[in-house]
Amino acid sequence: MTIHAFVPPYVLNRMSTADAVIGRLGRDTLAVDQVLRTMDRRPRIRGTVPGLHREISDAAGSQRLPGRSVRTEGAPSTGDPAADEAYDGLGATYRYYREVHDRDSLDGSGGPLLATVHYGRDYDNAFFDGERMVFGDGDGALFVRFTQGVDVIGHELTHGVTADEADLPYQDQTGALNESISDVFGSLVKQYATQQSVTEADWLIGDQIVGPAWPGRALRSMAAPGTAYDGPPVGKDPQPAHMRDYVDTTDDNGGVHINSGIPNKAFHDAAVALGGHAWDAAGPIWYLSLLDPELDRAPDFAAFAAVTMRIAGELPDGTRLRAAVAAAWEGVGVPLP
Ligand SMILES: [Zn+2]
Repeated sequence: MTIHAFVPPYVLNRMSTADAVIGRLGRDTLAVDQVLRTMDRRPRIRGTVPGLHREISDAAGSQRLPGRSVRTEGAPSTGDPAADEAYDGLGATYRYYREVHDRDSLDGSGGPLLATVHYGRDYDNAFFDGERMVFGDGDGALFVRFTQGVDVIGHELTHGVTADEADLPYQDQTGALNESISDVFGSLVKQYATQQSVTEADWLIGDQIVGPAWPGRALRSMAAPGTAYDGPPVGKDPQPAHMRDYVDTTDDNGGVHINSGIPNKAFHDAAVALGGHAWDAAGPIWYLSLLDPELDRAPDFAAFAAVTMRIAGELPDGTRLRAAVAAAWEGVGVPLP
C-alpha cells in the first residue's frame, strides 16, 4: 500500500497559498508529504503472538522514524499527552475490531500496533506508512495534536485492514471507497469507544483535531458531506453527498477524499435507518463486504453497493437489513443491481 496521510492535499494546497504563517505551514507539510509519497511501503510486521501489542515512540520534532521508544504494552502512562493518547487510540481501535468483528489486530493475527508521536515541527498531518502510525503535533491554529482524534487513528489503521483484505486501487471510485471504508470504521471506533447510538453520534471526521482557526466543525461530515467547513484559508468542504454532484478531477488521486462523501452518506443513512448502535448491523455488513472476495472485482460504487446488499440479505433479519441498505444507496444516487 501507499502512504496514507489524513489531511488531503487540496486542504494543504489552499493553506499554502494563504498568508505568511499559514502559507509556510501548508508548504512545509506538503513538502514532507511529497517526500513520503515517494517512499516505498514499509514491510508489515506480521503477528506471531495473539493479542494487543502496542509500542509508542517519540521522534522529538525530527522526521526520523521510528524515534525513541517511550511506552510498550502494559507500561504505565508516560505523562506526555501525545504518547498516551496514541497508546489509548491504538487500544480503542484494537478493541473495536476485536470485540465487534472478532479480528485480532490489523492482520488478524495479533500484529503489533506501532506509532510515533511528535513527528516534525508544526507538521499538520498524520499518516500510516504500512508499518506504523505517525502523528504531527499540528500548528495549534488550524490543527492541534493529531493524537487527539480517535477517529483519525481508526481511519488510518483501517487502511492497514483494507490493504490486507481487499484490492481497492487508490484511484477514482475504488480509491474513494478505500477512503470511505476508513471513515466508516474511524467513526465506528469513535462511536464504540463512547458507546454512542446512531442518533447520539456526531458523524464528523476529524472534529477533535481541528484547531481554533479552522473554519468549521471538522474535516468531513458523513451525515451531511460538504458542510464540515467553509471559509479562509481552506475554502469550502468539497465533498458531494449524491452521485449527481460526483467530482471528476485528476487531483487527489481522482478525488478519493472528495467523492468518498457519497458512500460515507450511504453508510450513515443505512445505520440511522437501522437504529441502535451503528456497530450492531451496519458495521458488520460493511466489514463482511470488505472481506468478501467479490469486492476485489468491484470497479465502482455500484458494485460495492451490490456486495453490501447481498451480505445484508444473508444475515439474520436479512429482508429488513437489505431494504435499509438498498434505500441508502438509492438515496445517494448509486444505481442498484
Ligand atoms: Zn485515508
